[in-house]
Amino acid sequence: MLFVIAAPSGAGKTSIVKAVLKKNSDLIFSVSATTRMKRDSETEGKDYFFLSREEFFEKIGQGEFVEYEKLFDDNYYGTLKSFVEDKLSKNENVIFDVDVKGALSLKSIYEDKTILIFVKPPGKSDLKQRLIHRATEDLKQIQKRIERFDSEMDEINEFNYVVENDNLKDAIKKVNQIIKKHKN
Ligand code: 5GP
Repeated sequence: MLFVIAAPSGAGKTSIVKAVLKKNSDLIFSVSATTRMKRDSETEGKDYFFLSREEFFEKIGQGEFVEYEKLFDDNYYGTLKSFVEDKLSKNENVIFDVDVKGALSLKSIYEDKTILIFVKPPGKSDLKQRLIHRATEDLKQIQKRIERFDSEMDEINEFNYVVENDNLKDAIKKVNQIIKKHKN
C-alpha cells in the first residue's frame, strides 16, 4: 500500500511521518528528489535526493518522475518512478510526504493502492507560528507557504482521511491506526 501524507506546509506533517516510521519498521519512506538546498539536519538519500536543476530537468525529460511540482522559491520536488515501482513490486508499504497536488497525482496513478491522509493544522495563525518557530524559512518564504494554505484546504474532500493536528501525539496515534488498518 502507498500511504500518502499531505498537508499545508507547517501542519506538522514531517514530524508525524518520522514518528510513524519509527513505530512501523516495515514501512518505507519514499525519498523524493528536490532542487532545494539541503538543511543541516538532512541527509542526502535519506530525506531527499538533492539534485541540481539540470539533473532534475534531465529526469523530467526522461520520464523518471511519477509526479513533480514546482513549489516554494521555484524549487522542484518529485517522486521517482523507479523508487515507487521497486517497492510496489516487492509488496512493500510505502509512506509519502508530498504536497497536496502531488498526493492527488499519486492517487490518480496508483488508485486502488493509495490511501490519502490529509493533516490539517488547527488554523492559519497557528500555522504561521509553527513556521516561524521552525525557522527554516525567512518571513517572505513563510508568507508564500501560508498563501497556498487556502487552495490546499479546498482539496480536503479528495482525501480518504483527515487528521487534525492540534495535538501531535494524538495525530500520530490516528495515523498509526489508519496504517495498521490498511497495510499489507
Ligand atoms: P520541504 O521543503 O519543507 O521539505 O517540503 C516542501 C513541500 O514539498 C512539502 O509540502 C513536502 O511534502 C513537499 N514535497 C516533498 N517531496 C515531494 C514530492 O516528491 N512531490 C511533491 N509533489 N511534493 C513534495
